[in-house]
Amino acid sequence: MPIVLPEGKRLAVCTSFDLDAWSIMLRMRAVGLLGPGNYGPINFSRGEFGITTAIPRIIKLLDKYGVPATFFTPGVIADTYPQMVKELHDHGHEIAHHGYFHECPASLNEKEEIDSFRKGVEAIKRITNASPVGYRVPFEIPQANELSPRTVKILMDLGFSYISQHMGPYDFKVSKVRDGDVYHMDKPPEFGKEVDLLNIPVNELIEDDLAYFLGVSTFYPKLDNPSKVFEIWKMDFDYAYENEPGGFFALVLHPESTGRAHRMVLLEQTLQYIKQKKDVWFCRMDELAKRWKN
Ligand SMILES: [Zn+2]
Repeated sequence: MPIVLPEGKRLAVCTSFDLDAWSIMLRMRAVGLLGPGNYGPINFSRGEFGITTAIPRIIKLLDKYGVPATFFTPGVIADTYPQMVKELHDHGHEIAHHGYFHECPASLNEKEEIDSFRKGVEAIKRITNASPVGYRVPFEIPQANELSPRTVKILMDLGFSYISQHMGPYDFKVSKVRDGDVYHMDKPPEFGKEVDLLNIPVNELIEDDLAYFLGVSTFYPKLDNPSKVFEIWKMDFDYAYENEPGGFFALVLHPESTGRAHRMVLLEQTLQYIKQKKDVWFCRMDELAKRWKN
């Protein structure tokens, strides 16, 4: 079940951002993962940086290289910064779903989950005049990072075409999402049915937050050498380009992490490196999903 790339193209490249800003921290506080003394104006400003400073930098860089991107956007961020989200949309980027308040489906009851999806869809629709077709699961680290048993059906009922969160079964290839797996501890799992929802997997090993942010604690950024991060991204891209023709390579980024100066330099180096290959197709994830032949 391949994706059919445009003629002459060997590999798709998707640049994706999770526009979490401050929503992830406030959500973690709401579910008791952070105490009130751990979150106020100082830490809120980390998220504000991701919007106020990082987004204009990112828009400028993506414009410079003609790279369309996908922004997974919590509804509350769209409601707070509608002009910024409209600007991303006007620059040709995809606005995809990332919960309303960065809620993880696995921590919600049925009504809360449906409300979260609907509110998130409506917030995006008010800006783009279209329903989002892509979804990425917001993580409530370290408590919840999973789908609920209802999530796939909700996504399909709301007309989504893809989810970009699974970490397999492939890395540079898409597959159909399976719904209803049952995992046992004393016998083999029972596999659920494949449904018409595309799995565009992510690779945490090349995610910016893993390299930069999730260090000593939630609040103290890990300071990794950008040349080391570039080496990892480059080797993964090179492997995909050489060994997985017809597939895709995706970066998972966060404006509040990647928007810092030296990391913007790294992202630019990465785009320049990939651009040297003339048969690479830079695309949004919804464009990739449309190339899927069932
Ligand atoms: Zn997120």
